[in-house]
Amino acid sequence: MMNTNDTAFLTDFLKTPKQITIVPHRNPDGDALGSCLGLYHVLIQLNHNVKVISPNEFPEFISWLPASEEVLVFEKNFDACKTFLQGSDLVFTLDFNALHRAGDQMGSYLEKLRKPFVMIDHHQMPDAYAKITVSDTSFGSTCELLYRFLEELNLQQYINRDAATCIYTGIVTDSGSFKFVKTTGDTHRVVADLIDLGVDNPKVHNSLFSTASFNQLQLLGRALQHLKVMPEKSTAYTFLSQDDLNEFDYQKGDTEGIVNYGLSLKGINLAAIFIENKEEGMIKISFRSEGEFDVNEFARSYFNGGGHINAAGGKSFDTLEQTVLNFETILNNINKQ
Ligand code: 5GP
Ligand code: MN
Repeated sequence: MMNTNDTAFLTDFLKTPKQITIVPHRNPDGDALGSCLGLYHVLIQLNHNVKVISPNEFPEFISWLPASEEVLVFEKNFDACKTFLQGSDLVFTLDFNALHRAGDQMGSYLEKLRKPFVMIDHHQMPDAYAKITVSDTSFGSTCELLYRFLEELNLQQYINRDAATCIYTGIVTDSGSFKFVKTTGDTHRVVADLIDLGVDNPKVHNSLFSTASFNQLQLLGRALQHLKVMPEKSTAYTFLSQDDLNEFDYQKGDTEGIVNYGLSLKGINLAAIFIENKEEGMIKISFRSEGEFDVNEFARSYFNGGGHINAAGGKSFDTLEQTVLNFETILNNINKQ
């Protein structure tokens, strides 16, 4: 996981109190915020001065994570965030591997920041900005990788119930509740340890998945009614316009997971959702696949994005209609079944 130099450096570095910033990617999901807060709960016990700084607001469905109220938001509070980053001895970046994934504002700030970075991440093709790069795409989540990282530093005794709850949450959300392909025996062994540490697992699942609003279900209904199937491409896609979002009083996180419904259709191995964001002037796209089709590659090649083989995202600056049309045209022109 790490070479002996890196392990020795971090072990020594963490021996005395330091100032440390932990950063998730923009629009943090359960794995991003869960890993950041998991690491936070460990490091504060070692008497470090630690802050999690999120590029932007995180969604409601993960706002119950222990210590989420301590998280600073860069795009809402530049001064405090920049001051803390300036005074930091080390910056952890979790669940992303290219600084632009922290968004335009925080990403460009981090690019100029002359501080040592530690990257812990499980996406393809890491950039080379970190002093220490802990990158392993065989892991289904950054949280599971973080657990092994903490073991390697001999810090597992500091994984208390709060840390365990955060780490468990990221494993659940990034594995689709333990069903995606990267869910291994080792994943379940980590999960077993976390439950033994006191994670209230039914409560976590309930907090994540049983708190939908009425509007959120109506929005899901709209997306399902928009579903289009391209049988010869084994593809199903849907879209939500800004008007759809407005009609159902869209809140951050409301569209999470909708893309997966396409894959639940018999014979479908590629699903996509296109979501219009008038404020940011773009279409946010999510791709999911089952089996061989590499959506990371697809998102990188055609939609300014990336991610993993079976889950990736991207964006388009065309209109919603044009973006959907482009998607269909691209699919019709590539060799995919
Ligand atoms: P989602 O579809 O849930 O937004 O993202 C799925 C996966 O793709 C996540 O692991 C996320 O980090 C990655 N991803 C989403 N959007 C982008 C993007 O615009 N660029 C890159 N490089 N990765 C993305
Ligand atoms: Mn992740």
